[in-house]
Amino acid sequence: MSIRDTYIISPHQSVNLDDFDPDYSDPSVTKKDAQKQLEANRDRMLELGYLLFAENKHALLIILQAMDAGGKDSTVRRVLTGLNPDGCRVTSFKVPSEEELDHDFLWRIHREVPRRGEIGVFNRSHYEDVLIARVRKLVPESVWSKRYEQINMFEQILAENNVAILKFFLNISKEEQKQRFQARLEMPEKHWKVRPEDFEERKHWDKYMRAYEDVLSTCSTEWAPWFVIPANKKWYRNVIVSEIIIETLESLNMQFPPPPCDISKVTIT
Ligand code: AMP
Ligand code: MG
Repeated sequence: MSIRDTYIISPHQSVNLDDFDPDYSDPSVTKKDAQKQLEANRDRMLELGYLLFAENKHALLIILQAMDAGGKDSTVRRVLTGLNPDGCRVTSFKVPSEEELDHDFLWRIHREVPRRGEIGVFNRSHYEDVLIARVRKLVPESVWSKRYEQINMFEQILAENNVAILKFFLNISKEEQKQRFQARLEMPEKHWKVRPEDFEERKHWDKYMRAYEDVLSTCSTEWAPWFVIPANKKWYRNVIVSEIIIETLESLNMQFPPPPCDISKVTIT
């Protein structure tokens, strides 16, 4: 079975996060193996990103969601920085501005979708509009409950227009979050990351898990699948995310376009 098939959520699968072990790693893979594999995978991603750019037919959109301290930033740093900066752009979605709130919730998202030839990474996304918006009651249920279907339709439009979509839920345990918060308090170079709001959100952990389960059960589609990545071990998370990106790019059967002229007749004087 491919790595993709191992971690994918099938359409209509009913997800209970208790069945997913955040601590899991394949027992036959050591940390050292995984780090070596990640290096090789970064080289391969660079090649595939170059081909994506040259062919100019598909875009790739990678969505990262997780609880606070779940490893979104570090996945971007460790896994995706290998990509050519020309063809890869990361967008972080924060609390919406007044202008953004005056539009439909997908307005700010759609504008950042990568163009053909590009890889776009969303650090948080429109899923916040059915996660924090639901848990913290930022909008009434009558509003957020309609969004799952709206999201599926939106993502279908993108997919039908050559945007390949991968959605990763970096699954950490509540205990792991506590340790990572603790580490932030203990390391002066991490103090900039300490936000009292994060500790506040932690109090609603169980409600977030229910909200994530609904996202995973409702919005994993053939055209935009969710993957639940065991994320307590950063080295395992990194290698699995990189493998899935590679498998996906390889499945696009990309080709270099033919040269625009007869190369054999080109002379350089
Ligand atoms: P961070 O990603 O840690 O820099 O934090 C960004 C914050 O913005 C998080 O607390 C998110 O929950 C919040 N956020 C992102 N998108 C939305 C949204 N659509 N509605 C409300 N809060 C959001
Ligand atoms: Mg944060």
